[in-house]
Amino acid sequence: MINLSRYSGGQSVAFGVGLGKAVGKHVELLGARRVLVLTTPGKSALGLDLAKRLGTSAAGVFSGAEMHTPVEVTEKALAHLNSVGADSVLSAGGGSTIGLGKALALRHEIRQIALPTTYAGSECTPVLGQTEDGVKTTLRNPRVRPDTVLCDPGLVATLPVPLTVSSALNAIAHAVEGLYADDRTPEDHELAIFGIKAFKASLPRVIEAPEDLSAREESQRGAWACGTVLARVGMGLHHKLCHALGGSFNLPHAETHAIILPHAVAYNMVAVPELLAPVAELFECDDPALGLWEFARSLGAPRALSNFGLKESDLDRAADLATRNPYSNPRAVTVDGVRGLLRRAWSGEAPRP
Ligand code: NAD
Repeated sequence: MINLSRYSGGQSVAFGVGLGKAVGKHVELLGARRVLVLTTPGKSALGLDLAKRLGTSAAGVFSGAEMHTPVEVTEKALAHLNSVGADSVLSAGGGSTIGLGKALALRHEIRQIALPTTYAGSECTPVLGQTEDGVKTTLRNPRVRPDTVLCDPGLVATLPVPLTVSSALNAIAHAVEGLYADDRTPEDHELAIFGIKAFKASLPRVIEAPEDLSAREESQRGAWACGTVLARVGMGLHHKLCHALGGSFNLPHAETHAIILPHAVAYNMVAVPELLAPVAELFECDDPALGLWEFARSLGAPRALSNFGLKESDLDRAADLATRNPYSNPRAVTVDGVRGLLRRAWSGEAPRP
C-alpha cells in the first residue's frame, strides 16, 4: 500500500472507524474553541449528534449546505458563524458541505475539520466552486483547503448504494484525468492507479454489504488518493463538461460524472492511448472507455443524462459552454466533438471516439 500521508500536503489526515465519535480530540489538537457544525438539510441529525459530542466546544449547527455552493447560502452561513462567534467549522458531509466550509474559510479566518461522507474528494483540494446568478466559477486558494480530514468508514456506510456508485465514479474520474494531465508527475500516476484499484477491489464488496466497514475504508482510501490527484494536477474535458452541466443545468454532481466518464475517456483515448492503457488493463478490456462503461454497468450506475432533467434541446448550449474557454486536454476540444459526446451521454449509448 502506498503511504498516503506522503501526499497530504500539510493536512492532518486520518482513517478509521470511530473517528467521527472522537472528533472532540481532533478539535482540541487543532486548537479550535468554538466549532460551527455544517451539514446539508438531509444530514442535520448527524450535525446535532456531532454538536452534542463536542459539548462546550460546539457553537451551533448550520444545516443549509447546498450543491454547487450558492453564494446566498454562504452569506447566510457566514452571518450565522459571526453571530455565534465560531473560530472553526466541522464540515460533516459530501462535497456540498465541505464546499460551504471552504467558502466560509475564504471569507473569514477559521480552521476547518472535514468529515467526508461521500467519495467526491473535495476535502483534499484547495479548489472551490461557487455559484452566483446561475454561473459556477472555480478558484484555487490554499486558504480553503481543510486543516484536518477524518475519514470514518462508519460515516460513508450510510451512503445509499446508487449514490455510492456514482460518487465512486466521480472519484475515479479525478484519477483518470490525472493520468493524462499536462502537469502530472510519476507520483500522481502512482496515486491515480492506487485510487482506481482501491475502488475496483472494494466497490463490489460495498454494494453487496454497504455496512462492511473494511470495504468502506478501502474505498475511502481510494477516494483520498483520487481527490489528492485532483488537488495536484489540472483536469481536462471530463471535468470541464461536468462543471458546465452541473453549474448551468443544475444536474446532480456525482451522477453527471458517472455518466460522462466513459464518454470523455472515449473522446481522449484516440489522442493518448498509451496513457489510458493502464485503465484498460485494470478493467480487463482492450478499450479503456468500454472497460469503464462495463464496470459502471456492473455496479448499476446511471447511463443517460436524459434521466436527470437535461433536455435534448439543452445539448447545443451545453456543448457551447463546455468549449467556450480554452483548457488543457489531450485532444483538441471542438464543439462538434463535444456535441456528439453529449448526445451519446444524453441518450445512454455506448461510448465511442
Ligand atoms: P453532496 O455533498 O451534494 O451530497 C449529495 C446528497 O447526499 C446530499 O443530499 C447529502 O445530504 C447526501 N449524503 C451525503 N453523504 C451521505 C451519507 N453518508 N449518507 C446519506 N446521505 C448522504 O454530494 P457530493 O457529490 O459529495 O458533492 C457534490 C458537490 O461537491 C458539488 O457542488 C461539487 O462541485 C463539489 N465538489 C467539489 C470539489 C472540489 O475540490 N472543490 C471536489 C468534488 C466535488
